[in-house]
Amino acid sequence: MRARHPCTVLPVLPLNLFMQLLKHNRRALHTCILLANASIFIFVASCSNDPTPVRSSQPARLSASPAQLAAETSQSPTPIQSPETVAVADLPIKPKPIPPKPLPIPPITEPEVAIRIETLALNQAVIINHAAGRLQISSKHSSADDQEWMANTPIEIRMQGEGWRVTSQKKSGLPSQSRDFPAGELTVDVLNGDTRPIQWNQKQWPGKLRVVRTPSNIDLVMDVKMDSYLPGVIAKELYPSWCDAAYHAQAIAARSFAVVEEARWEGRRHYDMVAGQQSQAWIGATDNAKALAAVRDTRGQVLVHDGVVVPAYYSSACGGRPANALGVLTDNPFHNIVCVSTGNKSAGRTSCCERTSVATWKASIALTKIQSRLQAWGSANGRADLSALQLPTSIEVAEKNAAGRPEQFRIRTRKGGSVLIEAEDFRRAINAAGDSKSSMRSCDCSIQISAGNAEFSGRGFGHGVGLCQHGAQEMGRKGSSYKQILARYYPQTMIVQAWK
Ligand SMILES: [Zn+2]
Repeated sequence: MRARHPCTVLPVLPLNLFMQLLKHNRRALHTCILLANASIFIFVASCSNDPTPVRSSQPARLSASPAQLAAETSQSPTPIQSPETVAVADLPIKPKPIPPKPLPIPPITEPEVAIRIETLALNQAVIINHAAGRLQISSKHSSADDQEWMANTPIEIRMQGEGWRVTSQKKSGLPSQSRDFPAGELTVDVLNGDTRPIQWNQKQWPGKLRVVRTPSNIDLVMDVKMDSYLPGVIAKELYPSWCDAAYHAQAIAARSFAVVEEARWEGRRHYDMVAGQQSQAWIGATDNAKALAAVRDTRGQVLVHDGVVVPAYYSSACGGRPANALGVLTDNPFHNIVCVSTGNKSAGRTSCCERTSVATWKASIALTKIQSRLQAWGSANGRADLSALQLPTSIEVAEKNAAGRPEQFRIRTRKGGSVLIEAEDFRRAINAAGDSKSSMRSCDCSIQISAGNAEFSGRGFGHGVGLCQHGAQEMGRKGSSYKQILARYYPQTMIVQAWK
């Protein structure tokens, strides 16, 4: 499901949202057909040709009807086998289809999130330390008499047959001790009342560690309170010199995204997010004063639209031509947020991040590389037309969104063939090789063929959905508040105090 253009969708809206939209969307609504059906109205909106961009005229997401909602939620909760693939900063892998799930209402207490911090090979050891010198090891699969062990640190955890062997450092002349635990999750927790983080891999991790065996790996997962998690996200996502307003806006965006992800994966997977580009960067505990202050000052605040928390996607730089979430980051209509810039395609770029270091980019990639990467992507994603792709002779933009950002490319080949591919899929295919010297920073680009190469000329960095980090810094530097920044990048949302 995909809304190609935010003005041409045919949503079924609750009356209150319809009235809200009508109030703000007068300029974008040329045609409205109202069909009364209890409290539900169907409206058909046609696109405005008004050349003036009307930034606030778009809802933060598409709403679904109660009927749609019932249909979505009645789907069987199929266990999710694949790892999380919805990215915030950048996406190397195409998201796999997942059962749609409605967005959550703001939680009234601070949620705990489960963050996968690393995936290890089955034969790797996990060495853990703690300032207290002791950690509590437990397994819910142990017998009632043998569920916990207070072990001296450092401790080493290894696979032992189907279960675990935990070895504790010797103390006061005593030899080291080992204890075996059965298969299943192993939990490593700090002593009661101790708030100092667990140490692993020379980093500090707040919360409780779970060691989880999957069919092919060992996953390390931290269970951590939301506002203890967020400082280590903000500190990694933004530059230290950036302004407080950008930090505060980023804190609320990251919290909103995490609330949605926590609700989305609850009961379906042993973690909610990964520490990295696929979800949000996370460095664990941090002493970054700006990040700590931004999270503390905005504690419990989330972005809400129509009563539910918005999945506040963000990326490095939108290039002045932002993207919609639907079809780029998600196929779940509940998770859509539309681009901040509307109007017609000739309206030009919005002033945003054009003065920053990542405003423009160029890349030159051999056509043979383009061909082989698209073939590989096609084979992995069931696209026979791409897996058998001939050498490209031209790559052109086939479709753009309302902001003028490319959404689909057409690849022409030697023998007169022509293949269409979604722009973000094209970028994923090109970047899957992990070759930073020949990567595609954004889909906002033009591509010329010259002397056996594809010459890319583009703007921005990342998927371009939601908050533009460089744009937020620019706004903050010029005096905007974090509320003004969020109002721009998540139009029609409001900041709600979810928990205190
Ligand atoms: Zn921007």
